Amino acid sequence: MLSTMCSQPKNPSPVAISPSSRPVVRVVAPLFLPKTLDYLWAGEREPEVGALVQIEIGNKSYHGMVAQIVQRSSYDKLKLAHDIGLPVLPEQVAGFYRWVARYALSAPGDPLRAGLVSAKVPDRPDPAKELIFTGKQPARLTAQRVQVLEVLKQDIKRTWQVGELAVAADVSDAVVRSLVKVDMLAWQEAPYRQPQPNFQPVALAKAQTEAVEVINEAVAAEKFEPILLDGVMGSGKTEVYFENIQRILENGDGQVLVLVPEIALTAQWLTRFKERFGFEPVVWHAHISDKKRRENWWRVQEGSASVIVGARSSLFLPFKNLKYVVVDEEHDGSYKQEEMFRYHGRDMAIMLAKHWACPVVLASATPSLETWQNHLENKYKYLQLPSRFGGAMLPEVKLVDLCENGPEKADMWLSPVLIDEISEAIKRGEQSLLFLNRRGVAPLLICRTCGHRHDCPRCDASLVVHGSSHNGKLTCHHCGYNEPYPTECAKCESDKLHTFGPGTRKVMAEVQRLFPEARIAIADSDAISTPAQMDQFVKDVEEGLVDIIVGTQMVAKGHHFPQLTVVGVLDADMGLAHGDLRASERTFQLLMQVAGRAGRATKPGTVYLQTYDTQNPLMKSLKELDRDAFYEIELKSRTYWKEPPFRRYIGLILSAKSERAVLTSAQKLAQTFPKNEGFELLGPAPAPLSRLKDHFRYRLLVKSNKPAQGIVQKWLAETPIYKQVRLEIDVDPQRFS
Ligand code: ADP
Ligand code: ZN
Ligand code: ZN
Repeated sequence: MLSTMCSQPKNPSPVAISPSSRPVVRVVAPLFLPKTLDYLWAGEREPEVGALVQIEIGNKSYHGMVAQIVQRSSYDKLKLAHDIGLPVLPEQVAGFYRWVARYALSAPGDPLRAGLVSAKVPDRPDPAKELIFTGKQPARLTAQRVQVLEVLKQDIKRTWQVGELAVAADVSDAVVRSLVKVDMLAWQEAPYRQPQPNFQPVALAKAQTEAVEVINEAVAAEKFEPILLDGVMGSGKTEVYFENIQRILENGDGQVLVLVPEIALTAQWLTRFKERFGFEPVVWHAHISDKKRRENWWRVQEGSASVIVGARSSLFLPFKNLKYVVVDEEHDGSYKQEEMFRYHGRDMAIMLAKHWACPVVLASATPSLETWQNHLENKYKYLQLPSRFGGAMLPEVKLVDLCENGPEKADMWLSPVLIDEISEAIKRGEQSLLFLNRRGVAPLLICRTCGHRHDCPRCDASLVVHGSSHNGKLTCHHCGYNEPYPTECAKCESDKLHTFGPGTRKVMAEVQRLFPEARIAIADSDAISTPAQMDQFVKDVEEGLVDIIVGTQMVAKGHHFPQLTVVGVLDADMGLAHGDLRASERTFQLLMQVAGRAGRATKPGTVYLQTYDTQNPLMKSLKELDRDAFYEIELKSRTYWKEPPFRRYIGLILSAKSERAVLTSAQKLAQTFPKNEGFELLGPAPAPLSRLKDHFRYRLLVKSNKPAQGIVQKWLAETPIYKQVRLEIDVDPQRFS
């Protein structure tokens, strides 16, 4: 045996045995590459799946993960994969990455890339430092130094940041720093401060306690279990999962991941967490600083972080010991990633929990239809919190028939009823919200002489008007193209240009005209694009500095505004006309959420839905706030049309600069699609956005009863298409764009 291992084979086969005694490892690179790459293992220890390695691709260096250890490679001249010496990623993490890539038909390295920082294991940041009082007093004590001393003496054990201490003592940062030089203050390493389980416990209502117990048992059982936590806004769902977190913190072993929609990750949520647990959890989303990101990555990896709250990308963090997953507002559209690596965060969260054998709670007042159907089929455990905590009332919903009682003039958007209600609210010192889902001044600019519509030259979409005709511009919301507001029609040179349809800014102008004394705040993505701006907005509303809010879906999410008692939905029909599979579902959820803004504390609120379509079953179920009736209608229609959740969809989007190349490729794919019982191919059809950034786009859609990933993968591998055509795969598409 030994001899064959040491000698080269006499007839070299096409498969070369590795020239050295180093094992061959298949490495997943954090790049958009279709395959794993073979390397020779260079490390002191034995290679293991999940080991993180440093590799070279081209001339660049990356961090990858060992996915497989093999006997030999079909390539000779393998480069080295250097062990970077970190603990091997747990099989739960590596297995989850594998599963996601297979399910989403993504590149094998996409999940790993999402779990690293700029395709690398980040450098470990220096430990944070803090100041502590040494007890020594300098020889020279100025008045300002005495001020600092007074503050320090109030609690000599307390530690400080420079700015904090300067503010507390009312001196400059320089004074504080000078005290380090004279040894009155010293720097020390700041320990990581975990949330404290019993910092500020809450007495729960009966239904909450019952829900908590069921979930705690599931956590203790260390078994995979999806649980739907159903309850209207303010029913106390957050308190329920906080209580579960408390238990896990008490036990002191295990990590919790709370997924929240990105926009909800503002100071309001964190403040609440901090009030309950004393310290902030580890946060993971697009807006954290580079240093925080590196710090937090290491805390998750080492297991020192026990509570992690994040947007969808936090699913891919290198957890060490995950015990519980929560998806708050599980129906939220922002869980779906719509770029290159397309996945649905909620569904992946369920699979993450499955890999870790732990429960996953899906919390929502308006669950997605997928989740609701799973609940109806008893696939999920079901927990319901009955009414609002503390007896706050649900708002009353009134339909305003725009055909009969619409605004007095064309190009106005507030009906007389709504105007009256807002005036009354202002008199009572309460707040109103006007909701509409379009930012900018108006969605269209049209020529009154020839009817020409100003469209984006690069996309199949109309330009949106921003600003006034003097200093405004036309912007494409798809590609960002913009041009100055034209003085005349591009087609007939007439100057009779007319903005058409409502936008947040136009409504704002109308509100200013109607209520010149009122304090108005605007909340759209032009005004609010960072968490800091969101926090400022929320603070202004909470402190009563605002009478009327004009906002988009941005204001629909998780904020608590007790003084808000009137909500006007200006264009409730919007969204129904899209001819898009989830349009009604999304509109319903959004409107329910907007309705939930009214009267969240003890004051009852009223919601006015302005609609041209009072007879629409959707409007009727909204008026009754009858969610289950809406779900029944919608699920019937989905069954009838063979749509999700009753069918599985995989979307393919082909795009290229040449329309002919795209169409030919799409047609070729359509011809080679395998004929199989239960699998159906629709298309090719021009995508709803048939031209984007100068690229033509066509869609194909695979509809099936069973998962179709295997079939699709084989089919695509066997059908070569033009190199210049880009193919994107969207498993379980949420919308067709
Ligand atoms: P949800 O997550 O269902 O919207 P929350 O958990 O945010 O509901 O609860 C709504 C409000 O009621 C919050 O201000 C919360 O602090 C309060 N609340 C919920 N449960 C309790 C409780 N048991 N004791 C005191 N306050 C509670
Ligand atoms: Zn014209
Ligand atoms: Zn465009």
